[in-house]
Amino acid sequence: MRQAVMTEPGKIEFGDVPEPKAGEGEILMRIKRIGVCGSDIHVNKGKHPLVTYPIVQGHEFSAVVEDVGPGVEGIEKGMKVTSRPQVVCGECGPCKRGDYHVCQNLKVEGFQINGCAQDLFVTTKEKIVPLPDSFTFEQGALIEPASCGAHSTRRAGNLKGKNVVVLGAATIGNMVAQCARARGAKDILICNYSGGYKLEVAKKCGLEKSFAMKDMKLEDAVKKFFGDEGVQVIFECAGSPDALTQGLQCIEKGGTFVILGVFEENPVVDMAILGEHEISMIGSLMYKHEDYLDAVKFVENGDVITEPLVTKSFPFEQYMDAYKYIDENSRNVMKIMIDMD
Ligand SMILES: [Zn+2]
Ligand SMILES: [Zn+2]
Repeated sequence: MRQAVMTEPGKIEFGDVPEPKAGEGEILMRIKRIGVCGSDIHVNKGKHPLVTYPIVQGHEFSAVVEDVGPGVEGIEKGMKVTSRPQVVCGECGPCKRGDYHVCQNLKVEGFQINGCAQDLFVTTKEKIVPLPDSFTFEQGALIEPASCGAHSTRRAGNLKGKNVVVLGAATIGNMVAQCARARGAKDILICNYSGGYKLEVAKKCGLEKSFAMKDMKLEDAVKKFFGDEGVQVIFECAGSPDALTQGLQCIEKGGTFVILGVFEENPVVDMAILGEHEISMIGSLMYKHEDYLDAVKFVENGDVITEPLVTKSFPFEQYMDAYKYIDENSRNVMKIMIDMD
């Protein structure tokens, strides 16, 4: 079978390797689409701190079950599936508490262990996620980023009756905003720095309220869109120190600030506001299994709209061209798919 190995940053070698088999409690999947995400781009540029090469990339994908090992129930050959890319130890404190997604020894497929950029890939039964027959393979591959949205919006607590601001309008920001809507947020405002394509995609996903931070201060935008109601929950998905500062200045007292963005520089946080306004600032990492299930439900119900997010697809053999395209069109790219067919 075909396999794409990133041997060093910016270099992918295609090999022909033996097909894996499904052992006890395992499922063999035929990979259909692979989404390329921000962290993959960091790996391609050699800027991901927690990766060693060579590595097989690919952690957001859709597949069809090819074979099922002994001890697997409810999963059958031919089913559309995806699976969580997390390999956890099961023995550390977080794992024992059921918070395996923050396992002290977490390994993520495509980063610390090999991912799914190959024709066939094996996963374990606790990680498999069945997809409805009605799903396109693109939708299936978008369940991973949607699950980041499902998880972070669950971390934020009850969103009902609350106004939400999402800082950052790339795939994760878009998914967070849509999941906040699915979880019953009163109103949602999404923004990025430069506006343009990503806010148009947001509109196509039914996120009507948006603005570009280069044109307007967040405080003014909150007044414009939410009036006196203000904002109670903010999700930072941009990794922008300035957006973080502006958010902290205008979030309502007692509000919740969820951090998803990756900050290249260590930002300055105004601890006086955080303390005296009793802001809950919480992190959000990846997802748990229930977030995958929520994400599937949201997409199936139409609460999360995925079609506008897919910008372009590249055949497997042109994996490197996908990176080049992202590099050259960064402001006009949401999700790029690798098409294994
Ligand atoms: Zn990803
Ligand atoms: Zn663990």
